[in-house]
Amino acid sequence: MELANLLGVHVQTVRTWASNGLAPLSSEVHRPLFLGQTVKSYLSQQQNARKVKLQAGEFYCLRCRKAVTPALVTEVDRHVLIGKQKDSILLTAHCPQCDCPVNKFSSRISTTQKGKYATNA
Ligand SMILES: [Zn+2]
Repeated sequence: MELANLLGVHVQTVRTWASNGLAPLSSEVHRPLFLGQTVKSYLSQQQNARKVKLQAGEFYCLRCRKAVTPALVTEVDRHVLIGKQKDSILLTAHCPQCDCPVNKFSSRISTTQKGKYATNA
């Protein structure tokens, strides 16, 4: 089965992967063969390369494609409990570079835990 059909992507996408380092099993130019495990590790490698680890107070801006630290953050209560009965909240802010809205989900720190993060108050 064609790799492009199998993954639901355009044939040109597979050609781009091949020119970006996805090694074919054979050197056949017109109908290259790819080993499933090779494709899998190539795609997870590409995915990990794009990951951005956010520090406390940072948001990911989709337009700037990087972590940003907005000055003003608003908490929106979602009225949903997650994990160990913590309130799920939505943190909203604006990117300091492009002014786009940036959001992330979090959990409200209970008042007893808040004492540990006194600098945050
Ligand atoms: Zn931005």
